[in-house]
Amino acid sequence: MQVFQQLGEYDHEKVVFCNDNDSGLRAIISIHDTTLGPALGGVRMLPYPTEEQALDDVLRLSRGMTYKAAIAGVNLGGGKSVVIGDARTRKNPAMLRALGEFIDEMGGEYIAGQDIGTNSHDMAVIRGATRHVACVNESAGGAGDPSRTTAYGVSCGIRAVLKATTGNDSFGGRHIAVQGLGNVGYALARFCHEAGARLTVTDIADAVLGKAAREFNADVVAPDAIYDVECDVFSPNSIGAVINDDTIPRLRCPAVAGGANNILAEPRHGDALTERGIIYGPDFLVNSGGLIRCQEEVLGKATEDFTVYAKVSNIYEQTLHVIGMAEELGVSTAAAADWIAEERIAGAR
Ligand code: NAD
Repeated sequence: MQVFQQLGEYDHEKVVFCNDNDSGLRAIISIHDTTLGPALGGVRMLPYPTEEQALDDVLRLSRGMTYKAAIAGVNLGGGKSVVIGDARTRKNPAMLRALGEFIDEMGGEYIAGQDIGTNSHDMAVIRGATRHVACVNESAGGAGDPSRTTAYGVSCGIRAVLKATTGNDSFGGRHIAVQGLGNVGYALARFCHEAGARLTVTDIADAVLGKAAREFNADVVAPDAIYDVECDVFSPNSIGAVINDDTIPRLRCPAVAGGANNILAEPRHGDALTERGIIYGPDFLVNSGGLIRCQEEVLGKATEDFTVYAKVSNIYEQTLHVIGMAEELGVSTAAAADWIAEERIAGAR
């Protein structure tokens, strides 16, 4: 594994490998960039097939957090951690406490939060070992799961791409195809439904599909069929890399915007969407609502206050700004968003 070569490629600051034989913890904490502040990012627990894949994921995700904070105007850096193992069978309190001790040794340089495979109750366990953790559940005195705020931000990003493609940002009568009905996707589907949109949804979990069909009068399709749905916006809210060489030719929509991280398989897929005339709301901007809420939590401010939602609703204006800049410069929206984030960090340096 060429670790330093990988760190050098995107200028990562630090990677910490954490091992605790007693609890079975094997984790990697990555700090990408702390120019704007301490590095905040979730703890992802997955049964990575190889250590290389775990390292790749944590490096990619921590870099994404740097860009997310930069474009959202948040004064935090980019970090992330991954725990290797199946969260359903391997996660245990001793493992989470051991991770908390490693985080504590970093002295506030990294602040943990929830991500795939962890939840706000796990964050309360981690807080037993360190105060450098966000998203702790409400009954333990924290701000809890940020997913609903993330979903609200995604709805603002979708309104922006609707405005850009139709001239009107109303959900009324629009058709949104939602991939993934987890914490973010389900809340997003509710926002869209309540605002008057028609929904087509998919997930790999059957139970949630029946619920969405009943609650939102949504049409349900098989996971692989979502790319072929003719709609106003395709909204990915599950795994990453769903916009790729196979799926782009199949899309029958003028816009893509969703909550998932790393929606584009590779940067060149941003250009491929532009070439097909599909407007893309950059993922790290559209899904930054949860991070904006986490910043308030870290600063000890109220997180369900209307001021948080007012800040999150700036995602609408910022997405339109990125779309306008991309058109002006003749580049993809993904490239324009990268440029805005990089300029903010360069300015802070
Ligand atoms: P989650 O685990 O609660 O939900 C993911 C959902 O996607 C699950 O219902 C799962 O069954 C479904 N899914 C998995 N593979 C699928 C597939 N191939 N096709 C269709 N559905 C599939 O996760 P979440 O918290 O809702 O996060 C969703 C995405 O948003 C992730 O990429 C996450 O990194 C990103 N994100 C989340 C937040 C947040 O606040 N939770 C913030 C920013 C970004």
